[in-house]
Amino acid sequence: MTMEKQIAENYRAVCARIEAACKRAGREPAEVRLVAVTKYARLEWARALAALGVADLGESRPQQLVARSKELLEPVRWHLIGHLQRNKVRAVLPPTELIHSADSLRLLESIERIAGELDLRPRVLIEVNLTGEEAKHGFREEELEAAWSDVLKLERVRIEGLMTMAAYSDDPEEARPTFKRLRELRDRLQSMSPAGARTGLTQLSMGMTGDFEVAVEEGATIVRIGGALWEGLEAADPADQHESGRDPGA
Ligand SMILES: *Cc1c(COP(=O)(O)O)cnc(C)c1O
Repeated sequence: MTMEKQIAENYRAVCARIEAACKRAGREPAEVRLVAVTKYARLEWARALAALGVADLGESRPQQLVARSKELLEPVRWHLIGHLQRNKVRAVLPPTELIHSADSLRLLESIERIAGELDLRPRVLIEVNLTGEEAKHGFREEELEAAWSDVLKLERVRIEGLMTMAAYSDDPEEARPTFKRLRELRDRLQSMSPAGARTGLTQLSMGMTGDFEVAVEEGATIVRIGGALWEGLEAADPADQHESGRDPGA
């Protein structure tokens, strides 16, 4: 099977699983956006996916997002899903459609200031660490509630919702309580916001290859999927990831 065919097949299978999960939850598939995570994908794969009409691509490393936004000429929207250091904000804001990973007030304030200098209105999700894992980035639940009045003071940054990652498990059901908590936290933050606040908090970015169906059932509006889209393909050598036009068989 050609790479393009394999990707088309994987993509169709992922869409069918999203649709089935929507059906179980009484939701419309149009309410759930797929962000295809390309962090381990060759540029050619991202291109093949874009050719199928997948318009949202996600990268976890700011440098790779910036590089690929220049290399890939297809009209895709770039999502930053990994940790953003403050010294990368200036480079990442112009090519990025949505930052999923705002994980501290300092970072949000830095985005606010630089957005002012660049005259941009960045769209941002706040990352929440609900599992307590030390290695994970993100606000703790109570930390975000305590910081909320400061978050509401941001003028340029548009806070559109929350993002989380469940703990790794072979059983997707184990992720369900985490996704439910993110939704409930969103509801609480909404009630702490004045009516007509800039913060709509409409987006819940949750669910990856191992648990996206459960996330959809719990109200995800964005799922971030890598692995399931690249099944049957051989991942690039990380050192090659920026380069385009490489034929692994050549
Ligand atoms: C890598 C990554 C994903 C995609 O993970 P898969 O298991 O490959 O689907 C989603 N979200 C974040 C934040 C990631 O870093």
